[in-house]
This record gives sequence, structure tokens and C-alpha cells, in this order.
Amino acid sequence: LIHVKGVSKFYDHFQALQSIHLPVHKGRKVVICGPSGSGKSTLIRCINGLEKFQKGEILVDGEGLAPGGRGLDRVRRKVGMVFQHFNLFPHLTILENLTIAPIKIGRMPRGEARDLAMHYLERVHIAEHADKRPSQLSGGQQQRVAIARALCMRPKAMLFDEPTSALDPEMIGEVLDVITGLAEDGMTMICVTHEMGFARRVADEVVFMDQGAIVERRPPDEFFDAPRSPRARVFLERII
Ligand code: ATP
Ligand code: MG
Repeated sequence: LIHVKGVSKFYDHFQALQSIHLPVHKGRKVVICGPSGSGKSTLIRCINGLEKFQKGEILVDGEGLAPGGRGLDRVRRKVGMVFQHFNLFPHLTILENLTIAPIKIGRMPRGEARDLAMHYLERVHIAEHADKRPSQLSGGQQQRVAIARALCMRPKAMLFDEPTSALDPEMIGEVLDVITGLAEDGMTMICVTHEMGFARRVADEVVFMDQGAIVERRPPDEFFDAPRSPRARVFLERII
């Protein structure tokens, strides 16, 4: 469903991604981890078309994303993205946050967009807050709204970039539960996270990145119990 083929990305002379290959079949769940600055966000942002890359190709559901960003709109509609800092529109209500893109970009009738939004708000247990503004919700609630908002575009896959790392510890579980539920429903996903319990439960494979390259790509139990590369070993010792 998502196929990253030999993607390299430069910021001026600095190479942030080094010929990344990553196939993600439909229904698969991939967790990406690695030290700060290893290129995890850059990779996710390339897949969603938020960053351009200089070499290689990314295919999403058969649509190609080539260097320079051609094919962008079609790809962006196929993948939902959830960021560390929620990125909700502060001046809109929760419901409006969910309906604006389906109405404006998806050209969905208002009533239909509203029904769809309420469906997903119920699913993330936020329906009773539909008329509030983001600032009136907790961080965990805002992140669940961000997930519901992404789902309203009916994406084929979801990308998460450290969805719980800005949250207070007591709110991490409620967000991971929502993501786990999506995974159980068969959603294809790539999730950057250092939540190892979640990775063990949900991931089909763990990708360990360092210095812009994929160093290991293996099932979670194998990776966490017996990392092969010294760099992964050092990394795991530090975060556990
Ligand atoms: P973190 O765990 O801290 O989020 P990361 O693995 O997501 O790290 P990236 O944000 O992808 O890392 O950054 C990879 C490298 O690219 C870093 O060395 C970073 O300094 C560099 N970089 C990222 N964005 C830019 C930019 N806009 N301009 C120049 N360099 C950048
Ligand atoms: Mg990052």
C-alpha cells in the first residue's frame, strides 16, 4: 500500500535520509524508532508529501510521489497524519475541526460531513465535547480529536509522529488505546513512537533508524529482545 523506494533527502548539503527502502503492505503496522535526529519525522513527512525529496520514489496505493512533489494532492488524501502537537484549528469547534476538510477539500455536503464527524468523535469518546474549542480539552482529548479528524478524510493509511510524546503520562494510555483499536480494525499504519509496550502489542515490524538510514527492520519481539546492531542496543538501553 505504501512503498518507499530508495528515497534520499537533503537539507542543503546535509543528508537527512539515505536511500530508504520501506514497503508497507495493506493492513500492516510499522513502528519506527531511533535517536533524535535520525530522520524519523523527515521520512514520515516525505510519505505524506510535507517534505520534498531528491532521489527515489514513494508509492501510496498506486499513486506515485516523485522528487519535486508531483502527485501531492492525491497522495495526501490517501494518508492521514497525526502530529506530536495535535495541530487543531484553535478558533474552530471540535466538530468544525473535523468537518472543514471533508467539506472544503472533499466537497462533501455539510450534513453528511457532520454525521461522519460525529461517528468518529463517538469512536474516540469525545462526542459530548463536539461544540467546545480545542483549548477546553485535555491534551489526550485533543489528540483523540486529531485522530478522528484524520479519519474523516477516509484515509487508506495513517501516519503518526510521536502521537503521545507531548502528553502527560496519565493521558498516554487513552490515545494508545484509540490507535490500537484502529490497528485491530485493520488500518495500515506507520507510527513513530518510543512506547515499547505499544510497539510489542501492535507492530508487525519495528524499524530502527539512525543517521538517516534504516539499521534494522524486524518483528518487535526479536528487535527488543535481541537487537543486532550495537547502535540499537545503545538506544534501547537508554530508553528502557
Ligand atoms: P526527533 O526524535 O528529535 O523527532 P527525528 O528522528 O524525527 O528526531 P528529523 O526531525 O527527521 O529527526 O531530523 C533529521 C535530521 O534532519 C536532523 O539532523 C535535523 O537537524 C535535520 N533537519 C530536520 N528538519 C530540517 C530543516 N527544515 N532544515 C535543516 N535540517 C533539518
Ligand atoms: Mg521527529
